[in-house]
Amino acid sequence: MAWFTRQKPSVGAPPPEGERRLRTEGLWQKCEHCGEIIWRKALEDNLQVCPKCSWHFRIDARVRLASLLDDGIYETLDADLISTDPLGFVDSKPYTERLDGMRQATCLKDAIISVSGKLNGRSVYVCVLELKFIGGSMGSVMGEIITRAIERSLATRMPLIIVSASGGARMQEGAVSLMQLAKISAALMRLDEARVPFISVLTDPTTGGVTASFAMLGDLNIGEPGAQIGFAGPRVIEQTIRQKLPEGFQTSEFLLAHGFLDAVVKRGELKAFIARALEFFVD
Ligand SMILES: [Zn+2]
Repeated sequence: MAWFTRQKPSVGAPPPEGERRLRTEGLWQKCEHCGEIIWRKALEDNLQVCPKCSWHFRIDARVRLASLLDDGIYETLDADLISTDPLGFVDSKPYTERLDGMRQATCLKDAIISVSGKLNGRSVYVCVLELKFIGGSMGSVMGEIITRAIERSLATRMPLIIVSASGGARMQEGAVSLMQLAKISAALMRLDEARVPFISVLTDPTTGGVTASFAMLGDLNIGEPGAQIGFAGPRVIEQTIRQKLPEGFQTSEFLLAHGFLDAVVKRGELKAFIARALEFFVD
């Protein structure tokens, strides 16, 4: 049985841009960290980072792509794959209905955008997970799209960058979603053997099956400041080991200090950091 299929492109209005949607919600926003009232335009110009305390707000996949790729220009790949709902899953509503609602809300077919573009003049493939689409969860479609991106990297030797934001595997696809961990990891191993660079960027939050597979398999694993990164949530761990967890547990900074990340890089410096790393890896 196929776990994913292609949907014919529909004719309609172009997808709204992240910035435009934000602006309709009001002109001011309160920083959830320091309490500062910030003019939304100032926040946008600062890539959604608080100008006062440097708190990194979450951003949409499209805003992320625009921030990483030259002139915000890129070509979208594999945008027509959709899940076939292999289990016929129903929780509070049928999975197919949930997917339909998400597609309308995000103008995406699943929780990922895969593109090719230029980063400081260098051709790259970039995949960005969209947290707003069922928590950025990984099912058959995400698994296939990432695997195709890896295979394109293998064929062309263009570096691959994946920006994660995810709650983990998609429970509505059960064991099928877990198989994606192995599928992607095996493809990444071939990329590693071919010595083509893969850079993983972990943003708030990156947890579960995504952390347990590709997000931690980069040649470089880079965290965003203050991002929550882990496998199980802190409450589950505390209940299991019956111990209080240390301060800052599962933040980028904590993981860097304990050797699980290679760097923590501010959003405004991320593009230059990746460009420099790729110079080191490739040239
Ligand atoms: Zn702030």
